[in-house]
Amino acid sequence: MRIGYLHSIETLGATDGPGIRTVLFMQGCPYRCLFCHNPDTWEPDKYALKFTPERLCKKLLRFKEYYGKTGGVTAGGGEPLLQAAFLTELFTLLKKEGIQTAVDTAYGLFSLSLPVTGCPSKENRPTEKENKDKIQDTRHNAQCTMNEDILKLLNVTDLVILDIKHTDPARFNRLCGLVPDNKRNADPNGGGKAQPSGTNRLQNTLSFLSLCASLRKRIWLRQVIVPGYTDSEEQVRKLKEIADTYGAEKVELLPYHTAGAYKWDALNIPYPLSGVEPPTEEIMRRLNAVLQD
Ligand code: SF4
Repeated sequence: MRIGYLHSIETLGATDGPGIRTVLFMQGCPYRCLFCHNPDTWEPDKYALKFTPERLCKKLLRFKEYYGKTGGVTAGGGEPLLQAAFLTELFTLLKKEGIQTAVDTAYGLFSLSLPVTGCPSKENRPTEKENKDKIQDTRHNAQCTMNEDILKLLNVTDLVILDIKHTDPARFNRLCGLVPDNKRNADPNGGGKAQPSGTNRLQNTLSFLSLCASLRKRIWLRQVIVPGYTDSEEQVRKLKEIADTYGAEKVELLPYHTAGAYKWDALNIPYPLSGVEPPTEEIMRRLNAVLQD
Protein backbone atom coordinates (compact mmCIF):
# COMPACT_ATOMS: atom_id res chain seq x y z
CA MET A 1 0.00 0.00 0.00
CA ARG A 2 1.36 3.42 -0.99
CA ILE A 3 1.76 5.83 1.93
CA GLY A 4 2.35 9.59 1.82
CA TYR A 5 4.29 11.33 4.60
CA LEU A 6 3.30 14.89 5.38
CA HIS A 7 4.50 17.60 7.69
CA SER A 8 1.14 19.39 7.74
CA ILE A 9 -1.90 20.44 5.74
CA GLU A 10 -3.03 24.03 5.28
CA THR A 11 -6.63 24.56 4.27
CA LEU A 12 -8.04 27.65 2.52
CA GLY A 13 -4.60 28.83 1.39
CA ALA A 14 -4.56 31.70 -1.11
CA THR A 15 -0.88 32.04 -2.01
CA ASP A 16 0.29 28.72 -3.46
CA GLY A 17 -1.42 28.67 -6.83
CA PRO A 18 -4.63 30.17 -8.20
CA GLY A 19 -7.84 30.48 -6.18
CA ILE A 20 -8.53 28.90 -2.81
CA ARG A 21 -6.31 25.88 -2.23
CA THR A 22 -5.41 23.19 0.21
CA VAL A 23 -1.64 23.01 0.55
CA LEU A 24 0.02 19.71 1.40
CA PHE A 25 3.41 20.20 3.05
CA MET A 26 5.17 16.98 2.11
CA GLN A 27 7.89 15.73 4.44
CA GLY A 28 11.48 15.45 3.21
CA CYS A 29 13.71 17.81 1.25
CA PRO A 30 17.18 17.28 -0.26
CA TYR A 31 17.97 21.02 -0.27
CA ARG A 32 19.17 23.09 2.65
CA CYS A 33 18.27 26.60 1.47
CA LEU A 34 19.87 29.29 3.58
CA PHE A 35 16.55 31.11 3.83
CA CYS A 36 14.37 28.04 4.46
CA HIS A 37 11.44 28.77 6.75
CA ASN A 38 10.40 25.12 6.94
CA PRO A 39 13.54 23.26 8.13
CA ASP A 40 11.22 20.99 10.08
CA THR A 41 10.18 19.44 6.73
CA TRP A 42 13.74 18.35 5.82
CA GLU A 43 14.09 14.94 7.42
CA PRO A 44 11.86 12.36 5.71
CA ASP A 45 11.25 10.33 8.86
CA LYS A 46 10.10 13.27 11.01
CA TYR A 47 6.63 13.33 9.50
CA ALA A 48 3.56 14.24 11.52
CA LEU A 49 0.90 12.79 9.22
CA LYS A 50 0.62 9.58 7.25
CA PHE A 51 -2.04 8.91 4.62
CA THR A 52 -2.97 6.50 1.88
CA PRO A 53 -3.96 8.33 -1.34
CA GLU A 54 -7.58 7.24 -0.84
CA ARG A 55 -7.82 8.52 2.73
CA LEU A 56 -6.19 11.86 1.90
CA CYS A 57 -8.43 12.29 -1.14
CA LYS A 58 -11.49 11.71 1.04
CA LYS A 59 -10.28 14.37 3.47
CA LEU A 60 -9.58 16.86 0.66
CA LEU A 61 -13.01 16.34 -0.87
CA ARG A 62 -14.49 18.04 2.20
CA PHE A 63 -13.09 21.33 0.90
CA LYS A 64 -14.17 20.85 -2.71
CA GLU A 65 -16.86 23.54 -2.62
CA TYR A 66 -14.26 26.18 -1.70
CA TYR A 67 -12.03 25.45 -4.69
CA GLY A 68 -14.48 26.74 -7.31
CA LYS A 69 -13.25 26.72 -10.91
CA THR A 70 -9.73 28.02 -10.23
CA GLY A 71 -8.69 26.61 -6.85
CA GLY A 72 -7.57 23.13 -5.92
CA VAL A 73 -4.78 21.24 -4.20
CA THR A 74 -1.08 22.17 -4.18
CA ALA A 75 1.63 19.78 -3.00
CA GLY A 76 4.64 21.65 -1.65
CA GLY A 77 6.91 20.96 1.24
CA GLY A 78 9.64 19.99 1.69
CA GLU A 79 10.18 18.67 -1.80
CA PRO A 80 7.02 17.06 -3.16
CA LEU A 81 8.78 15.25 -6.01
CA LEU A 82 10.47 12.96 -3.48
CA GLN A 83 7.02 11.43 -3.07
CA ALA A 84 6.05 11.56 -6.72
CA ALA A 85 4.55 8.07 -6.81
CA PHE A 86 2.24 8.78 -3.87
CA LEU A 87 1.20 12.14 -5.32
CA THR A 88 0.50 10.55 -8.70
CA GLU A 89 -2.04 8.25 -7.07
CA LEU A 90 -3.54 11.10 -5.04
CA PHE A 91 -3.74 13.52 -7.98
CA THR A 92 -5.29 10.82 -10.18
CA LEU A 93 -8.09 10.46 -7.62
CA LEU A 94 -8.49 14.23 -7.28
CA LYS A 95 -8.69 14.76 -11.01
CA LYS A 96 -11.44 12.16 -11.25
CA GLU A 97 -13.34 14.45 -8.85
CA GLY A 98 -12.64 17.47 -11.09
CA ILE A 99 -10.13 19.06 -8.68
CA GLN A 100 -7.19 21.07 -10.06
CA THR A 101 -3.72 19.94 -8.98
CA ALA A 102 -0.38 21.72 -8.60
CA VAL A 103 3.13 20.93 -7.38
CA ASP A 104 5.37 23.55 -5.82
CA THR A 105 8.88 22.19 -6.37
CA ALA A 106 12.53 23.23 -6.38
CA TYR A 107 13.44 20.20 -8.51
CA GLY A 108 17.19 20.84 -9.11
CA LEU A 109 18.73 17.93 -7.23
CA PHE A 110 17.19 15.19 -9.30
CA SER A 111 18.73 13.81 -12.45
CA LEU A 112 16.71 14.12 -15.60
CA SER A 113 18.08 12.07 -18.47
CA LEU A 114 15.26 12.68 -20.85
CA PRO A 115 15.21 13.07 -24.60
CA VAL A 116 14.07 16.68 -24.33
CA THR A 117 16.35 19.36 -25.69
CA GLY A 118 15.65 23.06 -25.82
CA CYS A 119 12.19 24.45 -25.52
CA PRO A 120 9.72 24.36 -28.39
CA SER A 121 8.07 27.66 -29.17
CA LYS A 122 4.45 27.87 -28.11
CA GLU A 123 3.12 27.11 -31.59
CA ASN A 124 5.46 24.12 -31.96
CA ARG A 125 4.56 22.51 -28.71
CA PRO A 126 3.19 19.00 -29.04
CA THR A 127 -0.49 18.17 -29.00
CA GLU A 128 -2.08 16.15 -26.19
CA LYS A 129 -1.73 12.98 -28.27
CA GLU A 130 1.93 13.71 -29.01
CA ASN A 131 2.46 14.35 -25.29
CA LYS A 132 1.19 10.89 -24.47
CA ASP A 133 3.51 9.40 -27.09
CA LYS A 134 6.38 11.47 -25.72
CA ILE A 135 5.77 10.23 -22.20
CA GLN A 136 5.58 6.70 -23.54
CA ASP A 137 8.80 7.21 -25.44
CA THR A 138 10.46 8.90 -22.49
CA ARG A 139 9.67 5.93 -20.28
CA HIS A 140 11.85 3.78 -22.49
CA ASN A 141 14.68 6.26 -22.26
CA ALA A 142 14.43 7.28 -18.62
CA GLN A 143 17.54 6.40 -16.67
CA CYS A 144 16.04 5.97 -13.23
CA THR A 145 12.77 5.26 -11.50
CA MET A 146 12.52 8.79 -10.20
CA ASN A 147 12.28 10.22 -13.69
CA GLU A 148 9.51 7.86 -14.54
CA ASP A 149 7.64 8.71 -11.34
CA ILE A 150 7.97 12.42 -12.04
CA LEU A 151 6.68 12.00 -15.57
CA LYS A 152 3.66 10.12 -14.31
CA LEU A 153 3.05 12.85 -11.76
CA LEU A 154 3.28 15.58 -14.41
CA ASN A 155 0.64 13.75 -16.37
CA VAL A 156 -1.91 14.44 -13.58
CA THR A 157 -0.58 17.87 -12.58
CA ASP A 158 -2.24 21.01 -13.95
CA LEU A 159 0.21 23.61 -12.71
CA VAL A 160 3.93 23.44 -11.93
CA ILE A 161 5.19 26.11 -9.53
CA LEU A 162 8.97 26.04 -9.86
CA ASP A 163 11.25 27.71 -7.38
CA ILE A 164 14.41 29.00 -9.08
CA LYS A 165 16.88 29.81 -6.33
CA HIS A 166 19.22 31.95 -8.43
CA THR A 167 19.97 32.45 -12.12
CA ASP A 168 23.73 32.05 -11.64
CA PRO A 169 24.78 28.37 -11.25
CA ALA A 170 27.41 28.89 -8.54
CA ARG A 171 25.23 31.24 -6.49
CA PHE A 172 22.29 28.90 -6.98
CA ASN A 173 24.29 26.04 -5.43
CA ARG A 174 25.53 28.22 -2.58
CA LEU A 175 22.06 29.52 -1.75
CA CYS A 176 20.37 26.12 -1.69
CA GLY A 177 23.02 24.57 0.55
CA LEU A 178 24.42 21.09 0.58
CA VAL A 179 23.54 17.88 2.31
CA PRO A 180 26.36 15.35 2.66
CA ASP A 181 25.65 12.56 0.17
CA ASN A 182 25.27 9.89 2.83
CA LYS A 183 22.55 11.98 4.46
CA ARG A 184 20.65 12.75 1.29
CA ASN A 185 16.92 12.24 1.66
CA ALA A 186 15.10 9.61 -0.28
CA ASP A 187 11.46 8.92 -0.92
CA PRO A 188 10.17 7.17 2.21
CA ASN A 189 8.47 4.78 -0.22
CA GLY A 190 11.87 3.87 -1.62
CA GLY A 191 11.69 5.48 -5.08
CA GLY A 192 13.62 8.72 -4.72
CA LYS A 193 17.17 9.27 -5.86
CA ALA A 194 18.86 12.62 -5.75
CA GLN A 195 22.05 13.63 -7.49
CA PRO A 196 25.35 13.99 -5.67
CA SER A 197 26.33 17.41 -4.48
CA GLY A 198 28.24 19.59 -6.93
CA THR A 199 25.90 19.01 -9.87
CA ASN A 200 24.63 21.98 -11.82
CA ARG A 201 21.30 22.45 -10.13
CA LEU A 202 20.34 25.44 -12.24
CA GLN A 203 20.86 23.38 -15.39
CA ASN A 204 18.81 20.54 -13.92
CA THR A 205 16.07 22.98 -13.04
CA LEU A 206 16.04 24.42 -16.55
CA SER A 207 15.92 20.94 -18.08
CA PHE A 208 12.89 20.21 -15.94
CA LEU A 209 11.35 23.50 -17.01
CA SER A 210 11.95 22.55 -20.61
CA LEU A 211 10.21 19.24 -20.06
CA CYS A 212 7.22 20.96 -18.41
CA ALA A 213 7.00 23.41 -21.31
CA SER A 214 7.17 20.63 -23.90
CA LEU A 215 4.34 18.87 -22.04
CA ARG A 216 2.34 22.14 -22.22
CA LYS A 217 2.05 22.41 -18.46
CA ARG A 218 0.99 25.67 -16.89
CA ILE A 219 4.12 27.09 -15.27
CA TRP A 220 4.62 29.67 -12.53
CA LEU A 221 8.13 30.62 -11.50
CA ARG A 222 9.06 31.76 -8.03
CA GLN A 223 12.11 33.22 -6.43
CA VAL A 224 12.84 34.34 -2.89
CA ILE A 225 14.41 37.78 -2.84
CA VAL A 226 17.19 37.77 -0.27
CA PRO A 227 19.11 41.04 0.15
CA GLY A 228 22.73 40.57 -0.89
CA TYR A 229 21.93 37.28 -2.68
CA THR A 230 19.11 37.62 -5.22
CA ASP A 231 18.14 41.27 -5.12
CA SER A 232 20.02 42.61 -8.16
CA GLU A 233 18.05 43.85 -11.16
CA GLU A 234 20.31 41.85 -13.48
CA GLN A 235 19.46 38.65 -11.67
CA VAL A 236 15.70 39.33 -11.88
CA ARG A 237 16.07 40.28 -15.55
CA LYS A 238 17.58 36.84 -16.21
CA LEU A 239 14.68 35.26 -14.34
CA LYS A 240 12.29 37.12 -16.62
CA GLU A 241 14.22 35.85 -19.67
CA ILE A 242 13.85 32.29 -18.38
CA ALA A 243 10.11 32.85 -17.85
CA ASP A 244 9.72 34.18 -21.40
CA THR A 245 11.79 31.38 -22.92
CA TYR A 246 9.76 28.64 -21.32
CA GLY A 247 6.34 30.28 -21.57
CA ALA A 248 5.77 30.73 -17.81
CA GLU A 249 2.42 32.36 -17.06
CA LYS A 250 3.64 34.20 -14.05
CA VAL A 251 6.75 35.09 -12.03
CA GLU A 252 6.41 35.67 -8.31
CA LEU A 253 9.12 37.40 -6.30
CA LEU A 254 8.74 36.44 -2.65
CA PRO A 255 10.35 38.71 -0.08
CA TYR A 256 12.69 36.82 2.25
CA HIS A 257 11.40 36.81 5.83
CA THR A 258 12.66 35.55 9.15
CA ALA A 259 9.42 34.04 10.44
CA GLY A 260 10.91 30.53 10.31
CA ALA A 261 14.21 31.40 12.05
CA TYR A 262 12.91 30.14 15.40
CA LYS A 263 12.56 26.65 13.88
CA TRP A 264 16.31 26.55 13.14
CA ASP A 265 16.91 27.41 16.80
CA ALA A 266 14.51 24.69 17.91
CA LEU A 267 16.41 22.19 15.73
CA ASN A 268 19.72 23.41 17.11
CA ILE A 269 21.00 24.42 13.68
CA PRO A 270 22.77 27.79 13.40
CA TYR A 271 20.67 30.16 11.31
CA PRO A 272 22.87 31.00 8.30
CA LEU A 273 21.24 34.33 7.41
CA SER A 274 21.35 35.79 10.86
CA GLY A 275 21.59 39.57 10.49
CA VAL A 276 20.09 39.64 6.97
CA GLU A 277 17.02 41.87 6.98
CA PRO A 278 13.98 41.28 4.74
CA PRO A 279 13.98 43.39 1.57
CA THR A 280 12.32 46.78 1.83
CA GLU A 281 9.11 47.58 -0.02
CA GLU A 282 11.15 49.84 -2.27
CA ILE A 283 13.48 46.96 -3.29
CA MET A 284 10.50 44.72 -4.03
CA ARG A 285 8.79 47.49 -6.03
CA ARG A 286 11.97 48.06 -8.09
CA LEU A 287 12.45 44.36 -8.81
CA ASN A 288 8.80 43.78 -9.68
CA ALA A 289 9.09 46.72 -12.09
CA VAL A 290 11.92 44.82 -13.86
CA LEU A 291 9.44 41.99 -14.50
CA GLN A 292 7.02 44.43 -16.10
CA ASP A 293 9.63 45.90 -18.53
S1 SF4 B 1 13.55 23.63 -1.14
FE1 SF4 B 1 14.70 24.96 0.22
S2 SF4 B 1 13.16 26.38 1.02
FE2 SF4 B 1 12.06 24.62 0.22
S3 SF4 B 1 11.83 23.23 1.97
FE3 SF4 B 1 13.68 22.61 0.88
S4 SF4 B 1 15.31 23.68 1.94
FE4 SF4 B 1 13.39 24.68 2.51
